[in-house]
Amino acid sequence: MNEHNPKTITIQGAGVMGLTCAYVLAEAFPETEITVIDPAGFPADNASRMAGGMLAPYCECDHLPPAYIPAGLESIAFWREFSDKTGASFEFAQEGSLILAHAEDRHMLERLRAVLPPENAGTPVDLTQTEPLLAERFKNGLLIEGEAHLHPRKTMETLVQAVYEKNVTLAEKEGANRAPDLRIDARGLGAQDDQPGLRGVKGEILIVRNPDFSLKRPVRLMHPRYPLYIVPREGNIFMIGATIIESADDHVSLRSGLELMSALYSLHPTFAHAEVVEMKAGVRPAYADNLPRISREGETIRANGLFRHGFLLAPAMAACVRDMIKGNDNAQIRLFNKENSHENHPQRRRKTA
Ligand SMILES: Cc1cc2nc3c(=O)[nH]c(=O)nc-3n(C[C@H](O)[C@H](O)[C@H](O)COP(=O)(O)OP(=O)(O)OC[C@H]3O[C@@H](n4cnc5c(N)ncnc54)[C@H](O)[C@@H]3O)c2cc1C
Repeated sequence: MNEHNPKTITIQGAGVMGLTCAYVLAEAFPETEITVIDPAGFPADNASRMAGGMLAPYCECDHLPPAYIPAGLESIAFWREFSDKTGASFEFAQEGSLILAHAEDRHMLERLRAVLPPENAGTPVDLTQTEPLLAERFKNGLLIEGEAHLHPRKTMETLVQAVYEKNVTLAEKEGANRAPDLRIDARGLGAQDDQPGLRGVKGEILIVRNPDFSLKRPVRLMHPRYPLYIVPREGNIFMIGATIIESADDHVSLRSGLELMSALYSLHPTFAHAEVVEMKAGVRPAYADNLPRISREGETIRANGLFRHGFLLAPAMAACVRDMIKGNDNAQIRLFNKENSHENHPQRRRKTA
């Protein structure tokens, strides 16, 4: 095989990491036979299908250091182009994010403004103009421009279709053929067997239908006990999430259900009558520092640990994987290698700031 142009690539895992890799690699290596393996099928019921779908590199500054903002913006550009190219509606929209706090928690907005990067530290907005229904209960709001959102389940279905149309083979198990020239390990939590540092972090979500409410963009409610985000979907559907619990079990606890519902009801009184469509939990793959990694060992490239940022970072990481194979420079690669991601960890930065 030509080192920079493998004849065969096998990708393990059809989450957002594996499928964006399949899509980006199929475009970059049209002559290469690419296979995606996932025992859970296509689309698989995995962490990716459970996500909120927020593409929020600025609002995530508590969880993701500012060094990752360019990678987040690159991914937003990828999803916009993917939406244009496929013509499929997976509800991609770039309307920014709105951050709210009840009057007694206003100091939390000030704290957030202090940690947001100065180039996009949020604009105070008049809610009667921006999201009029929220003006009934809230006075203070900050708009973070440039952020986007999408519908993860529809996006995963579109990705499956798009890679299939690019002649990528989709299979539930690997054939007995000879080993591929290159293997991409994107198994998420399935890689725990040989990635001992990988752990599961549970996220519980609630999906409701409320015909008396509407939103243009995701809203984050700053709350000392129950921080919450709400992502609008078509048909007056709203996804509310998500808890962050150190556990790999995937059931929704009574307490989390109550907290999500109370926080939602505090947003607007019409949620009292909302129809509960679904309550579910997903488990995010994460390393100890909650930062994603790409590593190479011989003919295996691993891309994992996307924690809260699968949709936000997978396209930028897939571009890094492509450029690693091609031997091209990519300004983001440094971000995803183990030593440097440790250097970027938010708590480490705070200590040294
Ligand atoms: C509640 C919740 C809300 C979230 N909200 C957001 C959000 O708003 N924005 C955002 O960007 N991210 C969000 N995330 C994070 C995002 O969902 C994850 O980071 C992302 O799904 C991880 O993708 P992945 O492809 O690495 O893993 P997964 O989606 O888990 O996919 C891994 C796949 O590998 C397969 N697999 C396992 N073992 C094998 C094997 N041996 N061979 C082949 N395949 C195998 C599995 O079946 C699975 O399909 C959220 C996550 C949760 C749980």
